[in-house]
Amino acid sequence: MSDAISTPTQAPRVGFVSLGCPKALTDSELILTQLSAQGYQTSKTFQGADLVIVNTCGFIDAAVKESLDTIGEALAENGRVIVTGCLGAKAGEDGGNLVRQMHPKVLAVTGPHATQEVMDAVHANLPKPHNPLIDLVPNSFGVAGIKLTPRHYAYLKISEGCNHRCTFCIIPSMRGDLVSRPVGDVLSEAKALFEGGVKELLVVSQDTSAYGVDLKYRTGFWEGRPVKTRLLELVEHLGEIAEPYGAWVRLHYVYPYPSVDDVIPFMATGRVLPYLDVPFQHSHPDVLRRMKRPASGERNLDRLLQWRAACPEIVVRSTFIAGFPGETEAEFSHLLDFVREAQIDRAGCFAYSDVNGAAANLLPGMLPLELREERRARFMKVAEEVSITKLQRRIGAVMQVLVDSAVSMGKKGGVGRTYADAPEIDGVVRLLPPEKISKVLKVGEFTKARIVGVQGHDLTAVPI
Ligand code: SF4
Repeated sequence: MSDAISTPTQAPRVGFVSLGCPKALTDSELILTQLSAQGYQTSKTFQGADLVIVNTCGFIDAAVKESLDTIGEALAENGRVIVTGCLGAKAGEDGGNLVRQMHPKVLAVTGPHATQEVMDAVHANLPKPHNPLIDLVPNSFGVAGIKLTPRHYAYLKISEGCNHRCTFCIIPSMRGDLVSRPVGDVLSEAKALFEGGVKELLVVSQDTSAYGVDLKYRTGFWEGRPVKTRLLELVEHLGEIAEPYGAWVRLHYVYPYPSVDDVIPFMATGRVLPYLDVPFQHSHPDVLRRMKRPASGERNLDRLLQWRAACPEIVVRSTFIAGFPGETEAEFSHLLDFVREAQIDRAGCFAYSDVNGAAANLLPGMLPLELREERRARFMKVAEEVSITKLQRRIGAVMQVLVDSAVSMGKKGGVGRTYADAPEIDGVVRLLPPEKISKVLKVGEFTKARIVGVQGHDLTAVPI
């Protein structure tokens, strides 16, 4: 144990690296909240820490490499490392734990969503300080805990795990079946976040539309009122809670289930953003069947067109896989037609690649890598044409923009986003210096702006 720990006035220091998706980020936030509540401090460097926690990602091979490299760095520079997250649940080639196989010197390894196990490992290796003065949560988010995102937006995780078994995905084997958080806890956390200054709440899970299925949509309570554990009721209440704060609520990972139809009119009222992150992955029914996707290909386009009719402002972001095993040219063309007809506003596409442990690896008809890459490039060309044509229609419109950064209080402009842009995955709005000399732009506040141009996936606008 270092000198820093034995000195009673100095709290033990933990280095923390958070890798992976927004769901991993919320796990990191829970662990950091616990550490802080128990009087640990964080260190910005590996050398300045008494031990290091690495929250890993194990989804694709590049993420596995990044995680293993980071663990290696932390071991080299600090030597005392606890590993958590998806990679921690992964088996190595010998059937044992992959992380332990690659880095036998790590102090402890847990899977994802294991705050208590991580805290137990921390306590075993770095006893918690007994100082009543620092034994408090030093932040203004109350029950919401510590947030790793900028102060004005936050992810709200509503469930963990997934009941589906898509053949290209290993998340259920790492995170287990769907476990929904009690609706009262979720709503209390949302309110605390808004009270703490959050202006945009990003609802995340593996399958947001399935919220409450595991609990048979049981009735919970929030502020003394009964509320069903179900997406529609959750969204209604989040919209109601956000309203007095003028804050946005954005939904991610929504599948095109019939139950989502009921959420669309609510989006049309503007109380939650008319933005849907729907991971379609493909459009052709046969490919979707081989992928074992939860929603049926035959009805996805009809459903989306109905949603657009009920709420014309709706913006749809989606991800797709090109070159899935056995994908024919006709199936791929079907996908290109879908992107055009569905007018997907924002699309990402991966060329299919095997994920260690996924069932799709055993499917016949693996396509050559060049063909998969070529299809991905063709897909992106079509998707970009659709996206940019839609962005150009916004020129001349006045839109509400949430300011993410502003130089000299906006005198030199800044960067923000409209309802159509989720942070970190979509485009941005490049804000020019305001027309009026008296106008200031503040990070985390809204401004109105007139759209004057399109630059790639981004808009240019003048604050008014
Ligand atoms: S819905 Fe499919 S892709 Fe998404 S987490 Fe579940 S199994 Fe994985």
